Amino acid sequence: MKAVAVYPRKQGPVHLREVKKPIPTNGEVIIRALEVGVCGTDREIVNGLYGDAPYGSDFLILGHESLGIAESDGVDVKKGDMVVATVRRPCPEHCLNCTRGEIDMCLTGNYREKGIKGLHGFMTEYYTEDPKYLVRVPHDLRHVAILLEPLSVVEKVIEQIFKIQKRLAWEPRTALVLGAGPIGLLSTFVLRDIGIATYTFARSPSGRLNDRLLEESGAHYLSATDTPLSYIPSKVGQIDLIVEATGSASLPFEAIGVLGINGIIALTGIAGQGRILEIDTSCINLKIVLENKLVFGSVNANKSHFETGVRRLKSIEERWPGVLRNMITRRVPIQRSQEALEKGDSDMKVVIEV
Ligand SMILES: [Zn+2]
Repeated sequence: MKAVAVYPRKQGPVHLREVKKPIPTNGEVIIRALEVGVCGTDREIVNGLYGDAPYGSDFLILGHESLGIAESDGVDVKKGDMVVATVRRPCPEHCLNCTRGEIDMCLTGNYREKGIKGLHGFMTEYYTEDPKYLVRVPHDLRHVAILLEPLSVVEKVIEQIFKIQKRLAWEPRTALVLGAGPIGLLSTFVLRDIGIATYTFARSPSGRLNDRLLEESGAHYLSATDTPLSYIPSKVGQIDLIVEATGSASLPFEAIGVLGINGIIALTGIAGQGRILEIDTSCINLKIVLENKLVFGSVNANKSHFETGVRRLKSIEERWPGVLRNMITRRVPIQRSQEALEKGDSDMKVVIEV
């Protein structure tokens, strides 16, 4: 069977290789792949910046955003079920968090990740999986279910924000999302779904696909070409929470200044290495202390966030039909996977069809 692979830590391109069809063991389920989503992490791996092959292998099968059909039965999974697999697997040390199913919070950093770190991914025709890492998705969500993995990352962020803010009496009314890529857009939809007035700020001028989609959910697009970040509070009032999804090195620090009193900022983007900023840290210190502000980071997600995400996909589909489907701007057959990994200007989410 075919698989899309790279030689980790070497610059691409990806190659299509023949690998043996896996045989399920120890209660595993065999899954026939339908689609695999492509994200920035995959592109970083192809560029040789990131990624580790499984022990004893010189190649890594890519892909961590999965969607497939179970072709055998397992605990809580039946043949014919549509399933999405979670990404992380526990560390060998069995740390406190991995043991409790919070692999996204692994204490040792020795967790493994499908298609990223030490384990082959899902860009292949068949894979096997322990059913405890599978989330069933209703068949009527087939056309948008490939978004479940990135959505799980957003569900974790929003859950964390509300858990952390139990530190005070807090009734958030206004949110700012920084970035209008897939994570920015999905964050916007989730915030709108829970009834928060949401403004999404990004570099692109107005009128592109992403701001049309988010405005369908009742959010407002703010382009950096018309509205500098520092002007936003004068336009929208007190900002209670910010989700940063840009990967900018400077924007998170600027955002502390525009966040309202008692507010919280979640950082999800990763800035490129070696960016040196000249900033007035005393001003940031003052803003955080005197206004009870909180900045935290969030990565990955655990199974509960995937399960919340399934309910969210359904809710977004019902409320704003088409916004999720239209996020998928390109579908590429597995034979031409290298094309999928080259980002086009108008790409939002690119999906490889297996
Ligand atoms: Zn761990």
